Amino acid sequence: MPEFSLDLNEEQRDLRDWVHGFAKDVVRPAAAEWDAREETPWPVIQEAAKIGLYGFEFLANTWADPTGLSLCLSNEELFWGDAGIGLAIFGTSLAVAAIYATGTPDQMLEWVPQCFGDAAEPKVAAFCTTEPEAGSDVGSMKTRARYDEATDEWVISGQKAYATNGGIANVHVVTASIEPELGSRGQAAFVVPPGTPGLNGSRKLKKLGLRASHTADVFLDDVRVPGRCLLGGKEALDARLARAREGRKAQGQAAMRTFELSRPAVGAQALGVARAAYEYALEYAKGRVQFGRPIIENQAIAFALADMRMEIDAARLLVWRAAWMGRNNRPFEAGEGSMSKLKAGEVAVAVTEKAVQILGGAGFLREHPVERWFRDAKIYTIFEGTSEIQRLVVARAISGTYIR
Ligand SMILES: Cc1cc2nc3c(=O)[nH]c(=O)nc-3n(C[C@H](O)[C@H](O)[C@H](O)COP(=O)(O)OP(=O)(O)OC[C@H]3O[C@@H](n4cnc5c(N)ncnc54)[C@H](O)[C@@H]3O)c2cc1C
Repeated sequence: MPEFSLDLNEEQRDLRDWVHGFAKDVVRPAAAEWDAREETPWPVIQEAAKIGLYGFEFLANTWADPTGLSLCLSNEELFWGDAGIGLAIFGTSLAVAAIYATGTPDQMLEWVPQCFGDAAEPKVAAFCTTEPEAGSDVGSMKTRARYDEATDEWVISGQKAYATNGGIANVHVVTASIEPELGSRGQAAFVVPPGTPGLNGSRKLKKLGLRASHTADVFLDDVRVPGRCLLGGKEALDARLARAREGRKAQGQAAMRTFELSRPAVGAQALGVARAAYEYALEYAKGRVQFGRPIIENQAIAFALADMRMEIDAARLLVWRAAWMGRNNRPFEAGEGSMSKLKAGEVAVAVTEKAVQILGGAGFLREHPVERWFRDAKIYTIFEGTSEIQRLVVARAISGTYIR
């Protein structure tokens, strides 16, 4: 048993520094342009693919780290560069994670490479679960999938909302309800292969932040996919539905665990945005002179920066703890995964707001990146479960009570 240590090992430090270099040299210089263009930054995705930062091998290597920290370290650095471009690069991983979590080994081999494409022609993938009437309340999903035994096909119809890479993806992973009366336990996930007729994306939605990342509604009109596109396979689904009909809860708990596992990685993204704003505000405060002295010499400014740094470090400890717990199969008895994303998301919002304040009028202008970080940070209290939903998870976990 190794001694307790918060030191990163050499491999982790190398990974962090390598991703930081890409974020600093490639992502950050391109950030303002792609934010203004509100377009998918394909050339940057291609650069990431060329150096091996975009692709299954990279994800597999980070997942392989027995401490669970590598994915968080690389996300923090990449999103320090820019969150919009970061999500354009990382968004595919949401679909890959769904295939990895629920698919069979054959399904992983067939679909994961198609999610990424290759360095010459990178592709993206989309994970589509939110619907216009089913956001936080995923159990009320209206998209339906029915099995056509004659052709061994699933027929999917419905509408998905706010899907990252929706409509431009090579592979869409779509959740649908098979037995609506079973709520989220009557749902399954399907791969919709490239070019399948009946799946259409809306135009790119206009957003407050993350503007380089493509977000769109997805319409599914009698979309037919082969039987093998049901993630996990039909036998497993039938057994799961039978268990759910009997009222057993195992699967619902398993789905909750999957969410808890992915939340630290999203928290790490929020940390990257917060750290970028903190570092920028610190440098600005040292250089900006008012009343004959740098503004950092005022406690009001210096204490704000001290709080920003403390909150970021505190959030990182929660993120690392949850990542370590997830990777080492520790039970999330107090919703520690949710805690990490909740804290990091709220810290990102607070820190970026303070950074704008420290820059004063300059903070409000597009000439400085803090206004973009301020806009980008807000997503972290909304997607992958809102702050309210994270509090529900923690409150239910610590109380054993069905809090509403
Ligand atoms: C940029 C972006 C990218 C996204 N990417 C994806 C994606 O790739 N795939 C995907 O499937 N989805 C994606 N989403 C959707 C995102 O996950 C949802 O927006 C989010 O889960 C919230 O759902 P909603 O917007 O319907 O809000 P609602 O569920 O309508 O919530 C509205 C408000 O009510 C609160 N609320 C709801 N229920 C409760 C309750 N029980 N107790 C207390 N408060 C409650 C919420 O916290 C929130 O403040 C994305 C969204 C955005 C904006």
